[in-house]
This record gives sequence, C-alpha cells and structure tokens, in this order.
Amino acid sequence: MGFDSFLGNSSAKALVLGMASSHRVSGALLFTGPEGVGKKTLALMLAKAMNCERQNGDFCGKCSHCLKAEEMLADTREDADRRRLIKDAQKRVEGLMYFDLQLIEPFTRYILIEQVRKMRNVAYTRPFQLPRRVFIVDQAQAVHWQAVDLLLKMLEEPPESTTFILVCPNGYELRPTIRSRCRRVQFLPVDDGLIAEILERDGKLTGAQKALAVRVAGGSVAAAKTLDLAQFERRRRPWLDFLDAVAGPAQRAGKTGAGVTSATTSNWPLIFDSAKALTESRADFQEELRIGFTLLRDIMQTLESPEGAQVVNLDLQPRLKSWASSLGLAGVERLKRGLDEAYRLQTRNVNQQLGLEALAADLASSRTGSSLVRE
Ligand SMILES: [Zn+2]
Repeated sequence: MGFDSFLGNSSAKALVLGMASSHRVSGALLFTGPEGVGKKTLALMLAKAMNCERQNGDFCGKCSHCLKAEEMLADTREDADRRRLIKDAQKRVEGLMYFDLQLIEPFTRYILIEQVRKMRNVAYTRPFQLPRRVFIVDQAQAVHWQAVDLLLKMLEEPPESTTFILVCPNGYELRPTIRSRCRRVQFLPVDDGLIAEILERDGKLTGAQKALAVRVAGGSVAAAKTLDLAQFERRRRPWLDFLDAVAGPAQRAGKTGAGVTSATTSNWPLIFDSAKALTESRADFQEELRIGFTLLRDIMQTLESPEGAQVVNLDLQPRLKSWASSLGLAGVERLKRGLDEAYRLQTRNVNQQLGLEALAADLASSRTGSSLVRE
C-alpha cells in the first residue's frame, strides 16, 4: 500500500511525493505521457494521500478516508460503465452525480459539456465527505470543444476546495491556455529492465518468450501486469495467415497445377478464413487491430533497415523480412491505409471482414500485377 507500490517513472513519482508530503499540491495538475505507464494510478494515489487521515504524505489504504475514496472510485467506475451502454446521448448524461473523488472520462468519444458543467457546479462548493475534493479528468484531450472554455475558466479561477488533475497522453493536444494553467508532471515509457522484472514475477516465461513479452508490453507497466502471451500469440495467428496469403513465400498457391486462373487464387481460402477469424468478435477487434498495427510497424521498420529493425514481434524476424520485401513500399502503404480505415470504422456497424478481403485483393493484385479472382 502507499506510493511504494507504484512502479517506474521515478521522477514523476518523486515530484508527486514531494507535493503530497509538503501538503502543497497545485490546484491544477497535468499528467502526460504514454498509455499504461501509471498516470491515472499516480493521480489516484495523490488524491488518496491528500485525504488520508494520517496526513503523512502517503496513504494507508485502511483509514475511513482511504476506504471512502476507494468506494467512491468503484462507484464512479460502475456509473461510467452503466452510462456507456445507454444509447440515447441525452439520457447518457442525465442525473450526473460527482463524488469528492471523481474520475471524469469520456463515455463515448468526448467528455461532454454536461460533464464539464457538472464539474463547475460542484467544484466551488465544500467537499461532502472528504477533506479535499479531487477531480481527475482522464483523456483530457477528449473534452468537447464546446466545453473547453468552461474548463479553462475553472482553471483560471481555481476553486479552493477542489484540485484538478488532467490526464492525457500528449499535452500538446490540449490548448496552450489550458496547458499553461497546469503544473505538468511528465511520464515516460518504463524501461525494459523493469518490465522484464514485472514479467519475471509470473515466472512462467522462457527467455525467448520473455524477450517477446517485453517488446509487446512496450514500456507499459499496465500491459506487462496483464499480458497473456499465449493469448497474444493466438490473436496474432490470423494476421500471420493473412500476411502469408498476400505477401508470403512466393506462389505456394499454384502448386496443385489445377490453378487455371491467377496463381494466387488458391490463397483465397486462407484470406477468407483469416479475415473471418480477425473480425469474428466485435469486442476483440480493437485488440486484433492493435496487434495488426504492431505487425505493420515491424514490417515498415524491416523495410527501412532489414538488419537493425527494433521490432516488437521478435520471433518473426525472417517472416517480417519476407513480407517486407514482397509488399514493397507501395504494398506497405496500402496495408497501412487499410488498417487505418479499419481503425476508423471500428465503432461503426460495418462489415470489417469484407474490408480486409478487399484489402487482401488489392495487396495481392499490386504484387502480381493481376487481379485476384475469387473461386
Ligand atoms: Zn488512510
């Protein structure tokens, strides 16, 4: 319990610890840095430390204030989950209730003006149950443009009883006027040594698996803690089939001799099956896409420097080389456009499988110079 349990980002942690132990926390803070390195975690820890009954610059997790803070956090998360499921935009923000420790985050794409208005209505009043109110605005870059002025006003006239912590991956996505009102705490990717240590606690990974897992976690403590390598490999498999089908070792397709259409025609079953596997579950598609993007980045890097590429998918290096040389620059760019498009459309009700098949057809035809005919 306490700040000791926070891993990595020692300078951000030292800065926050300094504020907590001197009881001098700025009215507005901005936590920026990559996903999964603990920005929100440290913000919550600070909120608890500001309220812990012991007032020793840390939090005990046991006193009534710490327990209350934990309870508020659980309730606010539950409320957000419930609201996300509400289809009607107006109803989604009806009857908002803000606790003294409140996480304010986008229910869908934006943090809406109603959410910011509610903040303002509450921020200037005395806290109800805790000594100090803390509003943590997660994904602050998602505050709707109509609400940015309102947020700025609050930061310009900071309420005495409320501390704002804005959390966002890239501070430059915020308006400079917002940025300049906040004391900034910068987070960095966590170094591979610490990620390896976190993975080590599990003790189940072999050396090669660990090296891959470190790359997959990509400097994120959260990713390292929850990484299931077997699941990653399982989800990655359809991508490997997909890439083999469009850019694999040349023409294993024509081997039966029965192929009278295009040489790559018989890759269709593989394309079809892999596109189907990738898109089968809408809930998993986002994760599938994330893996697709790691492969794309690896292929791009391999294309640029075949020997010195810093790839994520360490175990696939020979295949990455063969895909990269087979796709070439034009193919890689087409693949990127295809994945970007899939990413853009992921929340809409479109048939992603057809999209991936069209992408495959495009890639294969640009490679063989002939169009891919479906049997
Ligand atoms: Zn406490």
